[in-house]
Amino acid sequence: MDLMHSQLASIQRHLAFVAVEPIDWKTYVQAFSWVVCLFESYLLLRQYPLYSKPAPPAALAAHFTDEVFTKSQAYGRDKAKFSLFAGLYKQTIDSLLLHYGVYPWAWAVGGRAIGKFGYGPEYEIVQSIAFVFVLFFVSSLPTIPLSVYSTFVLEEKHGFNKITPGLFVADLLKGWAIGSVIAPPFIAAFLYVFKWAGDRFVPWLMAFLLAFQLIMVVIYPTLIQPLFNKLSPLAEGELRTRIEALASKLRFPLTHLYEIDGSKRSSHSNAYFYGLPWSKHIVIFDTLIKESRPDEVEAVLAHELGHWYYLHPTKLLLVSQVHLFAILALFPAFLHAPQVLRAFDFPADVSAQPPTIVAFLLFQMIISPLEAIVGIGMNAVSRRFEFQADRFACELQHMLKAEEMADMGDRLGRALVTLHVKNLSTVWVDWLYSAYHHSHPTLTERLRALEGFRSASASAAKKEL
Ligand SMILES: [Zn+2]
Repeated sequence: MDLMHSQLASIQRHLAFVAVEPIDWKTYVQAFSWVVCLFESYLLLRQYPLYSKPAPPAALAAHFTDEVFTKSQAYGRDKAKFSLFAGLYKQTIDSLLLHYGVYPWAWAVGGRAIGKFGYGPEYEIVQSIAFVFVLFFVSSLPTIPLSVYSTFVLEEKHGFNKITPGLFVADLLKGWAIGSVIAPPFIAAFLYVFKWAGDRFVPWLMAFLLAFQLIMVVIYPTLIQPLFNKLSPLAEGELRTRIEALASKLRFPLTHLYEIDGSKRSSHSNAYFYGLPWSKHIVIFDTLIKESRPDEVEAVLAHELGHWYYLHPTKLLLVSQVHLFAILALFPAFLHAPQVLRAFDFPADVSAQPPTIVAFLLFQMIISPLEAIVGIGMNAVSRRFEFQADRFACELQHMLKAEEMADMGDRLGRALVTLHVKNLSTVWVDWLYSAYHHSHPTLTERLRALEGFRSASASAAKKEL
């Protein structure tokens, strides 16, 4: 512990300039966020012409009718145009908020609001909660038209939207209501850890955030998700029997097997699992069940169980803890830095004793270019995991000595193609665009890899004989 604290202290000495040098952080944040935004626009411009290609790649040609291919290209084109506009629009809003000093304004509004209830500026945690609420509404209201357009124009046009305007508004209000219940105690506890642990906050805050994530794993599916979707036990039948048999062969601690009415909102489909190490739940979208045969859905689950078998969620959690540690290790330099707040137009009296929440928010803006790079790395890791889970499905026949699973790779391939076709997912992908945005390999890459896994596992079987 002491070694860690001395290391952290040495980082702070290197960053001591933050507290004293009058750096123009605001201009720097503006410049970098525009660079990131323009880079993302450039990626879209690289990707865009691919939506005009007249035919799918050879490897996929057999799976796409002309009609489906044309539809998927048109959907991709519309989505790309929308993303380009939405990206520039959001960046413009963020840039204006920064330019016109909305952050110091929100802090002052929060202060006046709590003043009405008799709380003065000495109640920093209360004011912080008010500040977050003001800021949330100011920054999220302008993006509502984007979701309206995306849902009711874009998705509607391509036949995916199932949401009625009533459901849209209800979802939005429910989301806000849940946020208002969870955010205040979370912010209060988060800030309290800082006050209580002082400069030794790093391990305590990490423990707090990890505990919060674990609580959410339990609370989300039982208390929050039922407010939006209906989870019902998967009906008895071939699919249920297959999945239960697969889970028990792999000793996957399956507690509940659900079907979710994902089709209530959208026709996009999927499957996933969640839960604590000793009790897991599998959720399958009704759309997936409708569109694929039971043995193909089983193959999708075999892939999902591959993620579990190789501890992918745990590994990602560990990576995110390391990431969090790195962020928190840099933070103290910005925590006691009046110069940083001054650079973002906060008045002298607020800047003199920087409120933790404000310092944290500004700090996050300052390191956001680093976060873009971390995102590319995380995507690369996630894509590796996807290949690994696909390979797992192909190797099950040997692992479980189950002849009937010999075609698992074919079934998975068919299910992936069906999902891809039904979702009208993009067929041609620019490599740089994909490296930056995609957490999953493209369909072409996955089918090619499945081919390889299958022949590898077939020759392994011959050797065994
Ligand atoms: Zn996966």
